[in-house]
Amino acid sequence: MIIFQRMREYDYEELVFFQDRSTNLQAIVAIHNTTLGPALGGCRFWHYTSERAAIDDVLRLARGMTYKASVAGLNLGGGKSVIIGNPKTHKTEALLHAFGRFIHTLKGRYIVAEDVGTDTADMAIIHRETRHVVGLQTARSGSGDPSPVTAYGVLHGMKACTKSVFNKTNLGGLTVAIQGAGHVGCNLAKYLATEGARIIITDIYKKNAQQVVNEFGAEYVEPEKIYSAKCDVFSPCALGGILDDKNIRKLKCAIVAGSANNQLKADRHGDLLEQHGILYAPDYVINAGGLINVAQELRGYNRSHALHKAARIYNAIARVINIAREERIPTYVAADRMAERRIERAKKTRTVHGARSRALVRQIYT
Ligand code: NAD
Repeated sequence: MIIFQRMREYDYEELVFFQDRSTNLQAIVAIHNTTLGPALGGCRFWHYTSERAAIDDVLRLARGMTYKASVAGLNLGGGKSVIIGNPKTHKTEALLHAFGRFIHTLKGRYIVAEDVGTDTADMAIIHRETRHVVGLQTARSGSGDPSPVTAYGVLHGMKACTKSVFNKTNLGGLTVAIQGAGHVGCNLAKYLATEGARIIITDIYKKNAQQVVNEFGAEYVEPEKIYSAKCDVFSPCALGGILDDKNIRKLKCAIVAGSANNQLKADRHGDLLEQHGILYAPDYVINAGGLINVAQELRGYNRSHALHKAARIYNAIARVINIAREERIPTYVAADRMAERRIERAKKTRTVHGARSRALVRQIYT
């Protein structure tokens, strides 16, 4: 009863539980919405404290994927899976095989990819049991590391923001403060340096940022100082939940545009940014390059096609900004509306669309 209540709340289609005693596998797949196409989303391997925590997480994450795929213009739905356990101690080849067999029973309604606690090597094992998997290594005709494509998408989303705020798409002469010199942060710094932007960088591991300082002449600041750094764009590329009351008050930028997931501590912080006159590029719109990258595998991977599609994040962010202006709503609300409207439009032509997406699944998987 409680499960159905939860599913009705945001209209989830399916919640599937898998267990295999011999490998100690306990996994859950949530399929939120397949109006636009088969559900694609990562598999999170995590030591959940309770079954309820795992269900809550998989439901929340699956719904997020519906929105991300919709605004990215992909013909994909939203889904996610979780495996309960500590990946360091619990993950075995046999368990991943069992998981792969279970995923195969869903017949392509859900396509699995990597997420926290799983990697491309795990996807390769799952791939031995099912074709309904993406995020494979390049050596296996997969898409490999998504970070350069994610960073490229962030760059173009950032340009849509600078166009709106400064009426310029060339980032030359602007200052961008990047939080996190990881996979995305470093790739973004490279693109920004090519554009002639001034870069400020931080990382909790200073040596990660050192490369950006050495190669692109970036200025290093201590992690806590990044919020108050005087810049045009603040680009969170580390962790989620950093846009809270305290940090927003410190910001000295006109734009927030970065790759981190779930940047707003709570929805109301999206309103607060607006009240401070700061343009916020909604995280799941601007960081969709990673999803765009793995989705390319479904049609035969080609990096230049993936980059070309990621550049369209410019249009997605520009549309979000327009909706926000026209309807006098914050950008994070505008992004949700944009996603929901595309799904609603597709529902109206469901027969045609459903046939098309079923044909796509057949074409790929049979
Ligand atoms: P990563 O782990 O390679 O890099 C994150 C970096 O942030 C690390 O160097 C870490 O030391 C640093 N860091 C952590 N906490 C920090 C803090 N408080 N202050 C400063 N630095 C801090 O991760 P990534 O792949 O570069 O991803 C960055 C963010 O973007 C994550 O939130 C991720 O979920 C999101 N994202 C990534 C992709 C992708 O393609 N990699 C796609 C979509 C979203």
